[in-house]
Amino acid sequence: MLVLLKPGTPESVASDVMTRLRMAGLAIHRTEHDGRIRIAAIGDLSAVHWDDVEAWPGVEGTKRLERPFKLASRAFHPHDTVISVGRAVIGGPALTIMAGPCSIEGEEQAFTIAAAVAAAGATVMRGGAYKPRTSPYAFQGLGEEGLKILRRAADAHGLAVVSEVMDSQLVPLLARYADILQVGARNMQNYALLREVGQLQKPVLLKRGLSSTIEEWLLSAEHVMAQGNQHVLLCERGIRTFETYTRNTLDLNAVPVVKELSHLPVIVDPSHGVGIRDKVAPMARAAIAAGADGLIVEVHHDPDHALSDGAQSLYPAQFEELVAQIRTIAGAIGRQL
Ligand code: PEP
Ligand code: MN
Repeated sequence: MLVLLKPGTPESVASDVMTRLRMAGLAIHRTEHDGRIRIAAIGDLSAVHWDDVEAWPGVEGTKRLERPFKLASRAFHPHDTVISVGRAVIGGPALTIMAGPCSIEGEEQAFTIAAAVAAAGATVMRGGAYKPRTSPYAFQGLGEEGLKILRRAADAHGLAVVSEVMDSQLVPLLARYADILQVGARNMQNYALLREVGQLQKPVLLKRGLSSTIEEWLLSAEHVMAQGNQHVLLCERGIRTFETYTRNTLDLNAVPVVKELSHLPVIVDPSHGVGIRDKVAPMARAAIAAGADGLIVEVHHDPDHALSDGAQSLYPAQFEELVAQIRTIAGAIGRQL
């Protein structure tokens, strides 16, 4: 239930309202919009007489939050959530470009790519150190050593860091090195992991599951937010369909749909979405035109020898050209880069 307080309600009155709702066994989250405090009361709503609540001091009205996701919904939080990480301000008028290799492979590789993506206009460096590979015999990532290299390479070029956390036990380690923790597509419904990253105050890049609906995805965001971490970035990275000519089907429908349903920033990953190098830039351009708040793109200076996802990695020059095109599109749709 959404409980809307009157404009200018004193803090002490707001606090009384929240205490009374808590005493009814409801979980309480608050936000503010246009000078009004908005309270989401979540749980067994039958424990409260809502007509009575409407008469409580300070209460302007109540409204049922119809969707199953509450904190992630625009009905609760009408304005766009904006998340600052390093130099990136994600979800506002400016677009954010995250880029880097699929996996961190070594010092030279990471520093070469960091220099290239920073020069082209990225503000966040991606790079996996713990890799979710379909085959147990494929390269699994460099682990903590990889995180150290990624951090150093990003720092050398003023970039923030996003890296995947595959396991709830590794959350503290990832949080030490990364500015944004990525929850991968395969873990979108790993609720223990979602709870764990929900206890952090660091942003979480939550990738859409391979075969997940938009509602399941937003409910996974809700798991993180219900723990207290409101800094969730939603990442569309393609879903499984019957199509086999591309790695996945990048669901760009999801961009305007999620932007309406939720206040959270939406980032698009065209690299995993299409899986083919020369198709990445067209889909990246389309994603921004569709209203995405940013991109996460795989870039490698020697993709033929990459230890993972070389076939979908852009050469630095291609990435630079893409960023220039994104800048043009940004201007056409009232965004900045
Ligand atoms: C990745 O970003 O390298 C990755 C494994 O992504 P996803 O979870 O979307 O497959
Ligand atoms: Mn990858």
